[in-house]
Amino acid sequence: MFRAPNDIIRCRSPVEPGSSSTQWGAHLFAVATRCLCGNIKSTPTGGFAVHTIDPGPHSNKLLASLPNEDFQLLIPHLSFEQLASGTVLAEPGVEVDHVYFPLSGAVSLLVVMRDGKTIETGTVGREGVVGAVSGIASCEWQVRAISKLPMFARKIASTEFRKAVSSSRAIADLCLRCNEGLLTQARIGAACNAVHQIEARFCRWLLETRDRAESDTIMLTHEFLAQMLGVRRTTVTETSIKIEAAGAIICSRGVIKIIDLEAVKAMACQCYETFREQTSLLGAPAAQPRAGR
Ligand SMILES: [Zn+2]
Repeated sequence: MFRAPNDIIRCRSPVEPGSSSTQWGAHLFAVATRCLCGNIKSTPTGGFAVHTIDPGPHSNKLLASLPNEDFQLLIPHLSFEQLASGTVLAEPGVEVDHVYFPLSGAVSLLVVMRDGKTIETGTVGREGVVGAVSGIASCEWQVRAISKLPMFARKIASTEFRKAVSSSRAIADLCLRCNEGLLTQARIGAACNAVHQIEARFCRWLLETRDRAESDTIMLTHEFLAQMLGVRRTTVTETSIKIEAAGAIICSRGVIKIIDLEAVKAMACQCYETFREQTSLLGAPAAQPRAGR
């Protein structure tokens, strides 16, 4: 069922009997992000699946930028994927057997340490592609890929993607450009993690995710954010309390709402702008959330 962004009041009823407050947060998030909200189901990963309408392959900026003859090499092999937040798409050491083109939301690329700790080293949204390196040669994942927002994507088998790359200079260039972009993200992220304080990194991550979600209301748990930032959950909680005390955000169970955008920007490190510029270089300016949301 279609629900417009300002239809949030109509959504203020339990989606399903026994819906938890966390599911409630996901419901608000789904509406706030202009998803065409229907039902919400919790998933084994603890994330959420939202029933909505396929936004179409051209929602991915890279697919949209391809000349039609190159696009036609891919489209017969692109399947539709609806991903709940927290869905693991790939694990390190596993062969890259599929390539994902996000149509909304974002995929986080995490380095996984031997003790299980993780830290985000890159994010891919509608401007990019996940697993493009497999278009050049068969390879293994070096990172864990996980959807950090409820999202849609188009997926293609790596074997089919390689055939398209071998036949299309435009698609091959796309692979190289995206891999260079991810490398740059990793470089900036390494410097940020080494130099900038957790409050500034927290705000940077929040702003980046806001751009991807196209909403000031973001559904995420402190546990999930700790995995992204490479810190303990208690550190995330302490940091969010400080930022909330400054009047910049409101935190409730599983939901962070930005109430003073300029304050969050003032607290974020310069890397937010650097990442935005990097995203623009890939051909897709960071999304601008609509006013009043
Ligand atoms: Zn930084």
